[in-house]
Amino acid sequence: MTKSWFCLSHNVARIALLAGLTAAGTAWAQFTQSPLPYAYTALEPQIDAMTMELHYTRHHKSAVDGLNAQIKNYPELANMTIEQVLCQVSKYNTAVRNNGGNHYNHEIFWKVMAPAGQGGKPSEVLAAAIDKAFGSMEEMRKLFSAAAAGRFGSGWAWLVVTPDKKLAITSTPNQDNPLMDLPEIAVKGTPILGLDVWEHAYYLSYQNRRGDYIKHWWDVVNWNEVNRRYEEAMRQ
Ligand code: MN
Repeated sequence: MTKSWFCLSHNVARIALLAGLTAAGTAWAQFTQSPLPYAYTALEPQIDAMTMELHYTRHHKSAVDGLNAQIKNYPELANMTIEQVLCQVSKYNTAVRNNGGNHYNHEIFWKVMAPAGQGGKPSEVLAAAIDKAFGSMEEMRKLFSAAAAGRFGSGWAWLVVTPDKKLAITSTPNQDNPLMDLPEIAVKGTPILGLDVWEHAYYLSYQNRRGDYIKHWWDVVNWNEVNRRYEEAMRQ
């Protein structure tokens, strides 16, 4: 049920996308990294420039390269969006799961951050949904931060819209995410905010102090993008 709901909504999006591409005469291509929407230095001091550069040009890039390398094993991947791949990722091998998850997660991560003071604030509709689900914005931040801090080893914390259109907080290990049709993904949904708590995301500035990284990261959340993702997820 959950799987078909996600895949149905993503198929509709893909048909619209394909129609546009066909009209433009462009062949469907490989997976690509979106350009970073700001300079490597833009999130300092919360996230240092070297961390951003290494993270984007090496960690994220290697995921995209690794995913594209799987097209020879699964030619249909070349005609799929990353969301489509992940909502039926149980059909594919570990390399697709790991690299596909990693690619999707980082695409979200870059976009839900903005230089401090430029990220806006939660919209009225999102703030109301957060109050309803968690009691208050402060409580949501506490729960999300605890999910991020409590993720043992490497992984991600998420704020998601569940298939029944409610907000939930969850975390996933390694490069998994709530879109994946895997039994071990406890909370499924469409991510609207995600935080990378792999050490490569913070070690140069914060070393082992993940809690400090999480605390400062809230200053660079791009609420404008979270608001947009919330509204999109509610329409799906
Ligand atoms: Mn990362």
